[in-house]
Amino acid sequence: MISIRGQNVAPSATLAITAKAKAMKAEGIDVIGFGAGEPDFDTPEHIKEAAMAAIQEGFTKYTPTAGIPELRDAVAEKFAQDNGVRYTHSQILISCGAKHSIYNLMQVLCDPGDEVIIPAPYWVSYPEMAKLAGGQPVVINTTAEDNFCVTPEALERAITPRTKAFILSSPSNPTGTLYSLDQLKPLAEILVAHQVYIIADEIYDKLVYDGIRYESITRLGEAVQEWTILVNGVSKTYAMTGWRIGYAAGPEEIIKAATNLQSHSTSGATSISQKAALAALTGPQECVEEMRQQFELRRDYIAGRFDDLAIASYVKPQGAFYIFPDVSACYHQKGRNITNSFDLATYLLEKAEVAVVPGAPFGEDRAIRLSFATSLEQIEEGLNRIQEALE
Ligand SMILES: *Cc1c(COP(=O)(O)O)cnc(C)c1O
Repeated sequence: MISIRGQNVAPSATLAITAKAKAMKAEGIDVIGFGAGEPDFDTPEHIKEAAMAAIQEGFTKYTPTAGIPELRDAVAEKFAQDNGVRYTHSQILISCGAKHSIYNLMQVLCDPGDEVIIPAPYWVSYPEMAKLAGGQPVVINTTAEDNFCVTPEALERAITPRTKAFILSSPSNPTGTLYSLDQLKPLAEILVAHQVYIIADEIYDKLVYDGIRYESITRLGEAVQEWTILVNGVSKTYAMTGWRIGYAAGPEEIIKAATNLQSHSTSGATSISQKAALAALTGPQECVEEMRQQFELRRDYIAGRFDDLAIASYVKPQGAFYIFPDVSACYHQKGRNITNSFDLATYLLEKAEVAVVPGAPFGEDRAIRLSFATSLEQIEEGLNRIQEALE
């Protein structure tokens, strides 16, 4: 008999639609995929070479659970530069992806019934990870009018004596919107006053557009830093999703507990991947800017196409590689059996052979998520098909 925990965990909805699209492709159907949650670029050459060198040198044994010291140095340097915080080695944990970092944090922060505030639309894994840790997700709905950002009033209302943590996803998956430092300030004041930990998922910090310089919540000063755990990784910035390297940095006692936990599950992350991540963080950074520029061109194109689609409204993404249009005007129309985001995604897959992700698992059933981590030609053809299918 499967445990209650095992029975209650939902499969990742983003992976489900990708699987269905893959199956159709295998049948020879020319599916255009907007489902991908990863860069379509190849991992830069110098990073691959570092990994190959690691293999050649026999760097293929267990590493310290918290990660090799050189990589923790490189992560410390990154956070010092980008976030303005100086972390020591004992405040940094390397894990098997940022997803693993957040999972570990949930496990060591939540007691049964502790509340984790998660703004919606949210990344699908946050509520599941909170629940798996015995925590209680408390969802704050945000609106397109507010750029999908939480207001101080809504945050204040959601906090209770059981609130343990707040998850800040900026730039956001699935909306691509981000918080300015001015917007973060009142939120941070509330969170610090109530002694709520801030889990800042900054996995898209290098993928921002319109000339914006990303500013982390840690820029608000020491009091905020003491309540913040930064989460980042190499997956999105360096097109390294399969290498599985992420990291967390924050208060020593939390990182220590997470390291202990990790020592009984995965142990240290893959030795070879750690060497690759080291090369990514310390090597030339031009590749990051090149990929970012490609994403920005695609963002401009896809936003332009949605401007022409009368039945969808959207907030222009300023980061990440997703657009999250409200398509609820397509629901409940005569002749089509579409009443929600799952129906619409299924309709688009079957009728237009275009794979998108339904918004419901992200906490917003009026929307669908399209990833623009695919070529401009694919985006153009996919949007042509969507336009034809919906209008
Ligand atoms: C992709 C992603 C992650 C984690 O990626 P890893 O490959 O596990 O490092 C974390 N948060 C968000 C919002 C993401 O989109």
